[in-house]
Parts: sequence; structure tokens; C-alpha cells
Amino acid sequence: MQTNFTAEQLADPHVATSEKILRKCVHCGFCTATCPTYVTLGNELDSPRGRIYLIKDMLENGRPADAEVVTHIDRCLSCLACTTTCPSGVDYMHLVDHARMHIEETYRRPFWNRLTRNILAATLPYPSRFRLALKAAALGRPFAGFFKRFKAFEPFGAMLDLAPKTLPKAPASSKPGTYEAAGERRGRVAILSGCAQPVLKPGINEATIRLLTRLGVEVVAPAGEVCCGSLVHHMGREAQALEAARRNVDVWLAEVEKGGLDAIIITASGCGTTIKDYGFMLRLDPVYAGKAARVSALAKDVTEYLATLDLPQQEAKGLTVAYHSACSMQHGQKITMAPKTLLKKAGFTVRDPAEGHLCCGSAGTYNILQPEISAKLKARKVKNIEATKPDLIATGNIGCITQIATGTAVPILHTVELLDWAYGGEKPVAISNLATKMPA
Ligand code: SF4
Ligand code: SF4
Repeated sequence: MQTNFTAEQLADPHVATSEKILRKCVHCGFCTATCPTYVTLGNELDSPRGRIYLIKDMLENGRPADAEVVTHIDRCLSCLACTTTCPSGVDYMHLVDHARMHIEETYRRPFWNRLTRNILAATLPYPSRFRLALKAAALGRPFAGFFKRFKAFEPFGAMLDLAPKTLPKAPASSKPGTYEAAGERRGRVAILSGCAQPVLKPGINEATIRLLTRLGVEVVAPAGEVCCGSLVHHMGREAQALEAARRNVDVWLAEVEKGGLDAIIITASGCGTTIKDYGFMLRLDPVYAGKAARVSALAKDVTEYLATLDLPQQEAKGLTVAYHSACSMQHGQKITMAPKTLLKKAGFTVRDPAEGHLCCGSAGTYNILQPEISAKLKARKVKNIEATKPDLIATGNIGCITQIATGTAVPILHTVELLDWAYGGEKPVAISNLATKMPA
């Protein structure tokens, strides 16, 4: 694609990066077929190609964002299906990240939209605030229908719908500390505690720690770690996202100095995609660029790391698992085979639902901020999953777990919870509840 930026505009490193990305696009439109919003809404401006044109026009003309651009960029899930499909290697992720920053800097959103986003940015990344908010949401749940009657309040209705009825207790593993390897130590890793996940499903990191330590890997949960910054990054709040990234880089590199780290283990693929991008996000910071690149190189999804440990084949479990590949796993990190190979080795029969490339509609805060499109994508995803007639659903991202669980009665677990059980750990309650199907 031809571009027309001035030398002055290109002096801005963000514009220079976006210009290089834009020039790679050849308008072929292959990406439209796999874009969930184009497939759902059928509008070119809700396709990757349409958004690329909008972003190009806005940046080239040095214009502040307007309501039209904001509407179509806000509808983008950042699912990155388009980057998997694009034959020209267009780096849509960094282009849309730049567009979101530009929107945040130049556009004043309507009051209720601003308020909702401020509440989300001030709550979700902080586990104790998030826990309190969920407790309050339990009281507000009966009013969800009322909020959904008014367009401006729909996100509040969506929040109340998504909030779980009960919350698990805060886990011991959310406390900083070292979990020693059983037997001879074959590795040492840090685990990202996370923000929303330990509040909603603390069992995921507990299963990870149990499994890794049983396999001879020392796991450290470092003190001082914060949310990876993904939630605010996708809102275009770059200063807040970079502050979180810098803090985590310091914490993890201190751990590298202390005892060495083979990997930083991440159990939510949405966070993994962002941490693997720290090197890019902090590339313009002379103090942190190199350090952030080191951290990104150490970041591993838990299944990616487990795949290096050569786990033995286990007996068949008599359970069929539909594997839902989170967008951040398959498109963001290009991890497609490892989770399924591990589940098969662990003795599960694994099914791939149709249209596996399409997002479930969770996408960070998308299911709150765009509840209508999100609900359509969820219904489509659940239909495809249920068509495989699974006993269980497995996935590797807390956002997808929360989203899909509100649309189906089939139990949904994190892949690592199933692996932990298969290799000698606790049986998840959801599996105990399927007792009639279990082998004796
Ligand atoms: S990131 Fe997803 S929703 Fe956004 S343009 Fe690409 S495919 Fe479409
Ligand atoms: S597939 Fe790639 S090159 Fe083709 S229109 Fe989409 S982004 Fe541009």
C-alpha cells in the first residue's frame, strides 16, 4: 500500500513503525474471511482491511480520532486472526495498538463510556479491588436486566452477568514464595500470579505449581509483581501499561540474578501475548529496552514449557475434551499443537471444534464494552463446541473460561488442571461430578 507521510510525521517513531506496517498491506482482503467482526457484521469497516484504511487515513492526515474511527476500532477484538491469515505478514497488532493510543490521546469519549472504562482500568488489574468489585456485583446482579435496557448502561449489565455467584477463597499460592522441586531439581521458573485469574480461578496456578514441582521444577512466585498491563494496553492507556511492564521486568530480572530462571510461566494466554511483546512495547525506553527483550524471551505459556519436559503417555481416561484455542494462544503466540498434544498424552480424547479460528467474544474487556457482538460470538462458539459432544472443554485463558462458562453447561477447565490430575494431582471437582463416565 502506498503511503504519504511527511518526513516530520515519520520523525515520530510510532508513526514510522505504523507506516512500515501499512506499506505491507496489498489490499487483498484475505483477512476479511477470518475476522470475527466482519463475519458477524458484514461491514467492510469492521474488517481488518477496512480498519487499516481508517487508521491510515487518520494517521496520514494527522487528524484526531473521530466517532467513526473509534466505533470501528473499538469493535476490533484484537483477536489477531487477521495476522494468522494475512499472506503479506501485516503486523496488525502493533498497528491497532498505535491506533488505540492515538484514540486515547485525541478523542473525548461520551461520559458513560469514559466512566465504564475508568472503572475497568481502576479495578481489573488489582486483585483486591477486583475481589471487592465482584462481591458488590453479587448484590447488584438482580439489576442486570434493568441496566441492559439502556444502551449507555449495557456494559454494567454485562459486568453483572459475568460476575460469578460465589468466589473462591484467596489462595495460598497468590502469596510470594518459593515452591521447591520434588526430588532432583531439573529447572527453576517464575510464575506470573496475574490479576483477575487468581480471584476467579485460583486453582489454575495452584495446579500449575503442583504439577511443575512434582516434575522436578522449582517455582518461584516473586514479590512485587503486578498485572501484566494487557487490560489497559488494549484500552490505549500506554503509560499505565508501560509502568506495569517496567515493574514486572525489574521483579523478574531480580529473580534471574538471584537464582537463574529457565522461564517465566504464564497460565493466561492473553497475558502471555503481552509479556512476549514487552520488548517491543519498551523499545523506545533506553533503560528498559534490552531488559524487556530479555524478559520477553523468557516468557512461556505453561503448555509451551511442559512440552519441553517429555511427559510420559498416560492411560486413556475415557473423557472427550473439546479444546478451545484462545485467540491469544493460537494467533497471538502461535501455540497450536502443544496443548492438544499434552492432553492426548495425558489420556484424553481431544476434539477440535469447527471455526476454531473465531474468537469466543471474551477479548479482555470486550465482553463488557461490546456486549452485543460478544454475545453473538459466544453463541456461535458454544454451538461449535457442543457439536463435538464433549465431556469437558479445555482452554488456556481465563477470559475464555469465564465467557464460555456463561453459555454452556459443559464444564470448562484450564488445560493445566487436566494435566495436573492426569499426572498425579488433585481431581478437579468438575471431573468428580462426571463420575458416571469415569473409569473405575
Ligand atoms: S484483530 Fe480480530 S477483530 Fe480485529 S481486525 Fe483482526 S481479525 Fe478482525
Ligand atoms: S490479508 Fe493482509 S495484505 Fe491482505 S488486506 Fe488483509 S492485511 Fe492487507
